[in-house]
Amino acid sequence: MKVCSYIFFLILIGSAVMGQDTAQVQAYARRLVKAYPDCIAGIKDNYVVFKNGTRLLFDDGESKTLTELYAHPDIEDQLKALYVKGKTANPAELDDPGRVRNDSFFKTMYGATPAAVQQNLTTITWLPKTARQSLKVSRINGVDKRLQAISDELEQLPAHLLPYVQQVAGTFTWRVIKGTNRLSTHSFGITMDINTSYSNYWQWDNKTTDEQKKIPHYINRIPFEIVAIFEKHGFIWGGKWYHYDTMHFEYRPELLVD
Ligand SMILES: [Zn+2]
Repeated sequence: MKVCSYIFFLILIGSAVMGQDTAQVQAYARRLVKAYPDCIAGIKDNYVVFKNGTRLLFDDGESKTLTELYAHPDIEDQLKALYVKGKTANPAELDDPGRVRNDSFFKTMYGATPAAVQQNLTTITWLPKTARQSLKVSRINGVDKRLQAISDELEQLPAHLLPYVQQVAGTFTWRVIKGTNRLSTHSFGITMDINTSYSNYWQWDNKTTDEQKKIPHYINRIPFEIVAIFEKHGFIWGGKWYHYDTMHFEYRPELLVD
């Protein structure tokens, strides 16, 4: 790191936010910078400062219902999620760690329009020894390299585990989440749906898109060995959500760094 950017980093990390718990904000700032060192400089005066000069409000000070949290979260709301790495029990009711997302945060890093996102996409060869599937993913934050590393590690697994990750269903598509007007992270080229033949999705199993409705059962068929490899490289898994989506992995290192 150059000396000047290092000093800039220290100033930003050291900035307090008026009326907030300074230590907590500093911890969030450290987490963001550690997760996204190429893109984020820190938090200053209640704004997340990106290295491209964009500033996004960190904490709007509002307390929100679950519906409001999904509809218009600030970045602080996004960071509050407790995603637990490793093998965990079934998700608790309405616990969806990682589904609260601030659209502007992702648009700033990966592109605000389909055309802008596509400029940052590159093609990787997924499972080159066993499937050879070409997939378009973002090169921002090294997402392409991380997925290639995941691919390499998956190919070391016992052969009976490979069908789960062969015939990947999709990576980049600019679209909203079904039943909502919220953008899916598939829009940014940072997300992968693995083989749908072995996957479960709360909307399919329960024939509803109503996020407020209690879901009668949780179903997962994805072996944990696969999940562990994705998590190691900064991807969270939709199988840890009450609104489960067991094919779905997205690059969210801010929820995985310590
Ligand atoms: Zn998905």
